[in-house]
Amino acid sequence: MAKTEIEKPSGAAAVTRIRSAMRSHPGRVRSENQDSGGSAPELGIYAVADGMGGAAGGELASNLALETFLHSLGESASGTSPVDARKRLSDAVFAANLAVFTRAEKYRALRGMGTTLVAALMERGTEGYTAWVANVGDSRCYMLRDGQLHQLTTDHSLVEEQIEAGLLSRDQAERSPVRNVITRAIGPHTEVSADITGHDLAAGDVLLLTSDGLTREISDEKIRELLTEHAGDLSAGCEALVNAANEHGGRDNITVLLVACE
Ligand code: CA
Repeated sequence: MAKTEIEKPSGAAAVTRIRSAMRSHPGRVRSENQDSGGSAPELGIYAVADGMGGAAGGELASNLALETFLHSLGESASGTSPVDARKRLSDAVFAANLAVFTRAEKYRALRGMGTTLVAALMERGTEGYTAWVANVGDSRCYMLRDGQLHQLTTDHSLVEEQIEAGLLSRDQAERSPVRNVITRAIGPHTEVSADITGHDLAAGDVLLLTSDGLTREISDEKIRELLTEHAGDLSAGCEALVNAANEHGGRDNITVLLVACE
C-alpha cells in the first residue's frame, strides 16, 4: 500500500515516544461548540470532528461520530487476527457514519446533521511508526517536519474542487462566499468514504489535527511559526494556536490536537 513520502531530515532518529495535547474553544462569536476532539493514546488514535446541523444536531453529530469511531478502532485493536490500518480506519469511518445517519433518520429535528472527521492512527511497525491519516470534509491534518509545514489532507469542499479545476486561485477561494460548502460529510448519506494516506514518521515530527475555525483565521505560515515556537510544549502550542485564531476574529469553533513524535 502506497505511503506518501515527505523527505525526512538527514539523520532522523526513530520515534520512541508519542505525546499529545488538545484544546477546543467556542471562538468569539458562537455560543456553542459543535467541534469534538478526542484520543485513545493507548491505541495510538487521535481525532477531531466539526459538526453541522440545526438544533443540537451539530454537537451531537461530532460527538457521536467521534465516540463511535474511537470505539470501532478499540474493537479492531483487540481482535485476534491483525487487520491492516487502512481497513480499520475505513471500517471505523463506516461505523461512525452509520451511527450519525441512523440517529438523524430517527429524529426529525436532527435531519441533515453531519460532521467532518480527521484522524491519525499511529501504527508501530518493524521499521518504526507510520501515521495513517483519514479525513472526510474540511478538517485538516498538517505535519511539521524539519521546520516545514505540510498539509497531509485535501479538503472535501466546493472551493477545493474549483481550485483543482483551475477555476479559482487559493486566494480567491479564501474569499469565496461558498467556501463553507463541503462535498463530503459523515452522517447525511448511508455511506461515505474517507481519504486515507500513510506517512512514515521520524523523531521531531509534529502532527496537527484541526477544525476550520483555525485554518480560516490564520495562515499556514502563522501555524508553522507557532508550532515551531512551541514544539517543546504541546499545551502551550495548542493555547497559542487557539489564541491566534481568536485574535483574528474567532468566528467559528476552534479545535486543535497536537501529536508529537520523540
Ligand atoms: Ca467549523
